[in-house]
Amino acid sequence: MPESIIQIRDLRDSGTGPEKWQQILADLLTDPKELLNFLQLDPAEINLDPQVLASFPLKVARPYLERMEKGNWHDPLLRQVLPLNQELAVTADGSCRDPLGENSSNPLPGLLHKYSGRVLLTVAPHCAIHCRYCFRRHFDYQTNTPSRRSWEKVITYIRENADIKEVIYSGGDPLAASDRQLAWLTGQLDAIPHLQTLRIHTRTPVVIPQRITDNLLAWLTETRLKPVMVLHVNHARELAADVAASISKLATNGVTLLNQSVLLQGVNDNLPSLTALSERLFELNILPYYLHLLDPVAGAMHFDVPEARGIELIRQLRSTLPGYLVPRLVREQAGADSKIPIP
Ligand code: SF4
Repeated sequence: MPESIIQIRDLRDSGTGPEKWQQILADLLTDPKELLNFLQLDPAEINLDPQVLASFPLKVARPYLERMEKGNWHDPLLRQVLPLNQELAVTADGSCRDPLGENSSNPLPGLLHKYSGRVLLTVAPHCAIHCRYCFRRHFDYQTNTPSRRSWEKVITYIRENADIKEVIYSGGDPLAASDRQLAWLTGQLDAIPHLQTLRIHTRTPVVIPQRITDNLLAWLTETRLKPVMVLHVNHARELAADVAASISKLATNGVTLLNQSVLLQGVNDNLPSLTALSERLFELNILPYYLHLLDPVAGAMHFDVPEARGIELIRQLRSTLPGYLVPRLVREQAGADSKIPIP
């Protein structure tokens, strides 16, 4: 991105006050009682131990809350954010705090270099939602929130490693960062000749569709880097009309759209849910890309679906949908040089 574009973006961001999405982000629901009262459910039924929130607080963006069904403990959107005492269960379940071994692939604050040809930047240390199954729920964001000076070291690292072709913005959720910050960073990367692709891994447009702003479209599409957005949607009900309208702006501006889901017990571990998800994604010009088995992170094992069940669900999807609507079933493994396809 030429410097002039970045400057224009900075000017446009300044002095106009927070945008709508920033106001929503500053007003996340964090109180489980408020959540359950809104949904006409009795908080006494879960008798939540405060320790659950001490280790991973509740966070729900209000547009996402509006899509939940009242009176339904089994609502698939509620299940993804509902803190439960099961998170405290210490069992011999093979879970740990860093299931993907990311601490050993972290040469600089803000940069993870796990796979050949691409690096991942933890652009923002927070999210617009806390998904209870998140594999980064124990990630050390404190030491991975670089200052501007540290970002310059990250940029130097990328510049000096000519085999890196792709940069992935991750987090937290990268779209929790401001467009001014993202435009600056993108401008720096744009000037590195060996980079080809900019990939954004995000859930924010799903939970705050107002996040797809003109300012975002500008830095994402005015760069010479090929823009790819990998959304994180687990259930078709997450793709409401307001989300669809925002996604269509990305599609019409030439952003390649992919989706990755996590196979989650009680959320999407059945054929009708996965079929409806693939069909709804395709309706919005998003290709179903990966279906992940749960990463065994401590506190989330109540979402685990056995591998055999995942294989059977993919077999059933193949028999009912065209191949391009069947996501690849994968698991991540610490130290592996790519995701592991299953079977
Ligand atoms: S990083 Fe992604 S999966 Fe984890 S809490 Fe944030 S939005 Fe959810």
